[in-house]
Amino acid sequence: MLPDLAALTLDDSEMTLGADPQLLRNELLALIENAAINAPRSLQRAIGPSGLGTPCLRKLAYGLTETPTAVARRVAWLPVIGTAVHAWLAEALIGTPLYAAVDPQDYGSRRFLVETRVNVGRVNGVDIVGSADLYDRVTCTVVDHKVVGATTLRRARAGPSDTYRVQIHCYGRGFVRRGLPVERVAILYLPRNGDLREAVLWTERYDETVATQALQRADAVVLGVKVAGATAIIPSLPTADDYCTSCPWFRPNVTPSALSCPGHTDPSDR
Ligand code: SF4
Repeated sequence: MLPDLAALTLDDSEMTLGADPQLLRNELLALIENAAINAPRSLQRAIGPSGLGTPCLRKLAYGLTETPTAVARRVAWLPVIGTAVHAWLAEALIGTPLYAAVDPQDYGSRRFLVETRVNVGRVNGVDIVGSADLYDRVTCTVVDHKVVGATTLRRARAGPSDTYRVQIHCYGRGFVRRGLPVERVAILYLPRNGDLREAVLWTERYDETVATQALQRADAVVLGVKVAGATAIIPSLPTADDYCTSCPWFRPNVTPSALSCPGHTDPSDR
């Protein structure tokens, strides 16, 4: 028998029966937005493995120098969906609530490690750390989950973007540095708004040089900033359209500076 909920009733003074239902909608959205904007992922400033492979050197420089974002933080709803699905996957794959077990050896399944903190190397003497979605002890494969829309899912069959590829090889390096063998890296693309049977698994052999070259490229950018100064070097760095309109440093119709960017403008790339 279900317990009686009457004890949970609020006092009359706390209740507003008959209020406009739209107020409830607005209150719920305000709570959701506040939680989304203040989620640890949204507040993260330091660059991680997911930022190292961007094809846009200017964006890389903004990230490495922890330049404050040029636009007010907005609710990034799609990442919220992605984060929620990641948590669900971790629980589904290991049969243990995320973060509930301190020692990975205690997880319900000993095949997978989920949400493992790894240190992929250093840039300018600073550790680049991230949280890897999945490590399969049976095949020694590092897997990154991507919850994506239809366009990215369609493109996934042709291979990942540089950003995704660098990220997963960096995670591979992080596991090797933590003492585990890595044979392959993989990206499991899961449809955000389609059928699960549309999922795509891309994989290739782990190649440490993909990670080390990304770290060296980032080191070179930081060195350039140190030598020439951010004001001189960042506006002159080559750009690429790495989802410019959602880039944290995108500001339309401005002159490129150490603080903001009008977006990639090479018409031949559009
Ligand atoms: S707005 Fe576009 S071109 Fe400018 S830094 Fe961001 S990704 Fe690069």
